[in-house]
Amino acid sequence: MFSYFRRKWRDREKAEPYAAPDADRLAEVEGDALPTIGDLGFDEPDAQIRSAGTDAARGRLDAFCDGAIYRYEADRDYPARDATSRLSADLKWGTIGIREVYEATEGAKADAASDAGSADAADDARDSVEEFRSQLAWREFYAHVLFFNPNVVAENYRAYENGIDWRSGDGRDEELLAWKAGETGYPIVDAGMRQLRREAYMHNRVRMIVASFLTKDLLVDWREGYAHFREHLADHDTANDNGGWQWAASTGTDAQPYFRIFNPMTQGERYDPDGEYVREYVPELAGVDAGTIHSWHELGNEERDEAAPDYPAPIVDHGERRERAIETFERARGGE
Ligand SMILES: Cc1cc2nc3c(=O)[nH]c(=O)nc-3n(C[C@H](O)[C@H](O)[C@H](O)COP(=O)(O)OP(=O)(O)OC[C@H]3O[C@@H](n4cnc5c(N)ncnc54)[C@H](O)[C@@H]3O)c2cc1C
Repeated sequence: MFSYFRRKWRDREKAEPYAAPDADRLAEVEGDALPTIGDLGFDEPDAQIRSAGTDAARGRLDAFCDGAIYRYEADRDYPARDATSRLSADLKWGTIGIREVYEATEGAKADAASDAGSADAADDARDSVEEFRSQLAWREFYAHVLFFNPNVVAENYRAYENGIDWRSGDGRDEELLAWKAGETGYPIVDAGMRQLRREAYMHNRVRMIVASFLTKDLLVDWREGYAHFREHLADHDTANDNGGWQWAASTGTDAQPYFRIFNPMTQGERYDPDGEYVREYVPELAGVDAGTIHSWHELGNEERDEAAPDYPAPIVDHGERRERAIETFERARGGE
């Protein structure tokens, strides 16, 4: 249980960051520069990846702790707001250490009162720092889950009596391809899948939405989604990725209950009310207003053709697929 783990984690004294290593004891680089990605035999990535390395990571951490951390609780679920730390790839690759990040949150918490105009605002700012720390605790939690249950990489954490009848035929491969390409006709899903290709990153709220869409609306095994994310995410981390996918598929620890299925249209409406995030990543919808984007599934073909002729109609009916997923999970649990 995450909440129990988090309480224990919160009350533990945290270790100090290590001192910087002695440069003379590090590996020597011959010549002037490190080898390029081409020298190492890899193709240049297609995605535009944010600058890497410890200086860049520290820059991101400082900028975040100077302002956005105090709005994190309110803004973190809105993908157009750029309100999160964007430290995931740094934490994954070790270009910044978790102890350094945690220490910076102590500083941010101590400074919370200085910019706040009132005692209530200072409390809100401190709560917001705590909310950020909770996300760091999720990272610790999933690392523990993986350490003590290494089989979760390939198997459900939570067993279902009859096994889940993931789809294998009846158009499943075409739907999986449409999901990967960001061409499902569900704007928030497609925006997320295209952000993944463009930036090797996806906002957390949208990761949850696209993962729910794949495992529930399309009833495709979470392992397919995990493999795709593993290939494309710059921050791919076995423990966090697996934890996120198993949560969405209702097979993990603290998992989303199988009957609580995200509605991609209402999620889009709630978390991208102005359609800003969708328009950024789905150029076919760039000139379309938010109302049309959020009612895309309800429009007739003629209306859709007029608004955005190059953007597809929804590939599935969410209401029907929702029912089908619930029935499938009920059978998996041992029901008729
Ligand atoms: C299906 C799915 C797959 C995911 N795959 C990955 C993955 O491969 N690698 C990865 O680091 N995160 C993964 N996450 C968690 C989360 O989406 C990212 O950590 C977050 O979006 C990274 O952006 P950020 O650094 O701005 O996060 P912030 O909101 O600023 O959070 C700070 C840090 O806390 C950690 N964190 C935040 N949320 C979570 C979470 N839910 N679970 C575990 N750690 C978290 C990350 O290290 C993150 O950098 C996944 C989530 C889902 C739903």
